[in-house]
Formats: sequence, structure tokens, C-alpha cells
Amino acid sequence: MNAEAKSPIDLNPHVDFAAARSEMVAKQIRARGVSSARVLDAMARVPRHEFVPPESAASAYFDEPLPIGGGQTISQPLMVAVMTDSLALNGSEHLLEIGGGSGYQAAVLSLLAREVVTVELQPELARACRQRLRQLGFLNVRVEEGEGSLGWPASAPYDAILVSASAPAVPPPLVEQLAEGGRLVVPVGSTEQQDLIRIIKRGGLMAHEKLSACRFVPLLGRYGWPAGANDSGAAGHGDSHHDTSGHGTPRE
Ligand code: SAH
Repeated sequence: MNAEAKSPIDLNPHVDFAAARSEMVAKQIRARGVSSARVLDAMARVPRHEFVPPESAASAYFDEPLPIGGGQTISQPLMVAVMTDSLALNGSEHLLEIGGGSGYQAAVLSLLAREVVTVELQPELARACRQRLRQLGFLNVRVEEGEGSLGWPASAPYDAILVSASAPAVPPPLVEQLAEGGRLVVPVGSTEQQDLIRIIKRGGLMAHEKLSACRFVPLLGRYGWPAGANDSGAAGHGDSHHDTSGHGTPRE
């Protein structure tokens, strides 16, 4: 085997990924108030280091978002846990994610819902995401390449929808594609700063709730931001608002 063919594990012989993951769950997630045993268990089971580029594997369990290529990022572990928790999944859900990226958030969701459809705009990311999830055995996730600000009408309605990128306003098609009793969680605000919004559809009425401040990369497309919104350097990274000082800003 030549040097080029080394796996991420060979590149990081000193990293005990399982230990790093347990510590991540305890210190970054449980200690900050996510208490659902099912969510904590899912976070403890998904090998986050398999979802980042090999050179970032040693940082995979750090308290920060990381670059995944294509100018995009895998969200901070806490943010993934908070968004997942906010959907109150019981295992029966037909779920839609917008912004598949690396597939990490979809993998976490797939352990807590019946099936996940994730839509990714960038063809290369969508292909890599599909292949990675299949290889790792997350077989109840379907990766679709497309413009997810329009939702994914072909498989609607959904019991839960999670948007992994920030929108200027709640995209109406996503609300339309929610089933009765369905939950939608989406970061809404400017390209620099958003609030995590949860909407619950009950009896045709929508209950809106503001959960926390956050920073995500922009949702592009019809109900997102114009292309180029990500080029200003101001875009966020799937980060919780607090507790990020002292961390380098991940950039491509
Ligand atoms: N959930 C991902 C985070 C990805 S970052 C993970 O766990 O890794 C947000 C993703 O949203 C990026 O991959 C970006 O390409 C994608 N995206 C942006 N606008 C989109 C749109 N309109 N439809 C689908 N995906 C979009």
C-alpha cells in the first residue's frame, strides 16, 4: 500500500474516534441541555469522522462546524442535536431534509425516523452523500439532487421537515408539504444571523416558535438567497450562536 492510499484512520492513528464521540455527546450536547435519550443515542452512534474530508477527521468531534467541500459545511454537533431534538421524532416519521451536504444530519435522523428523503442542490455533494450513506449502511435515507427550497413534492406530505441552510423567510412549499401534526424546523433571518424557527401544523393552523439563535450557510434557490450569497464571507456555518469564540472560522 503506498502512502497516497492511506485511510483517514491511518492518517490519525492517535485518535480514538469512539472515545472522542462519547465525550462530544456528554460535554457538548447532554451538558448543554439536550436530554432526549434517543437523540443522545443517535449522536453517539453516527461516526461523524466518516462524513468529513480525511484531513479533518481528527477534528470531527470538535465543537464546531467543518468544511465539506463545495463551499459548504457540516453543522456543529450541538446544532444537529438541537434541531433533531426539536422534531420530537418517535420512529414512525416520513421525513424530509433540505441541504443534504455530507449526509451527517440525515444519518442522525435516519436512526430516529422511519425514512428520510434529503435534497441536495450541488450534484457532486449529492453523489458523494448518496455513496457515503450507502457504504455506511444508512439504508433508509434517499438522496435526491435538486432545488429544495421548493421542497420535494413527489414524496409529500412529510411528518417532519428539517432545513440545514438558512432562508430569508419560511419557504411556503415546505409548509404546504407538511402533514397534519407535522413539524418543520428552519433557520430564518439574514445571511449572517438567524433564528431557528419551529412550525407545527395542527388543524390547518400553524404554530410558530422561535427556538434559538444560529448561523447557517445560505439556502439558495426560489425561496432562498440568490446565488453568490455565500461568497461575501459573511455566511455562517451551521453554528449555534453562543460558545463559538476561540474556534477558528472554518473556511474552504
Ligand atoms: N446537513 C448537512 C449540512 C450541509 S450545509 C450535513 O450534515 O453535512 C447546507 C447544504 O445545503 C449545502 O450542502 C448546500 O449545497 C445545500 N443547499 C443550499 N441551497 C439548497 C437548495 N435550495 N436545495 C438543496 N440544497 C441546498
